[in-house]
Amino acid sequence: MNYSKQREVVLDALKQNVVHPTAEKLYSIIQIEYPEVSKATLYRNLSQLAEAGIIKKIDGLETSAHFDHNTHLHYHFICEKCGKVFDVDCDVARDVVSKTEEMTGFKVANHEIVFKGLCKDCQ
Ligand SMILES: [Zn+2]
Ligand SMILES: [Zn+2]
Repeated sequence: MNYSKQREVVLDALKQNVVHPTAEKLYSIIQIEYPEVSKATLYRNLSQLAEAGIIKKIDGLETSAHFDHNTHLHYHFICEKCGKVFDVDCDVARDVVSKTEEMTGFKVANHEIVFKGLCKDCQ
């Protein structure tokens, strides 16, 4: 399998999995159709895609990194019971950047907000 095909397989698996899969989860999905893709290949592709800004690595998770095909600004909610990661619309904190700049005098280039708690199913 050539490099661009590998990349396509990784991106497709990520796009079909809306709940921000971990690298391990992606690996098990890809294995079903493409057993020839090794774990090393997958990890290399994930980090290259993240570096290129095509996908996003979600920080704030202690155990294993989750990946996101949605690179538009949005926040995340991590369920502390089932470990799933959900998207949260930025509208929940619309003024956070302007308020931060106003209160600190800093110039904000980027920000991330991670909420933690119990998802609807786990409550
Ligand atoms: Zn949950
Ligand atoms: Zn997301």
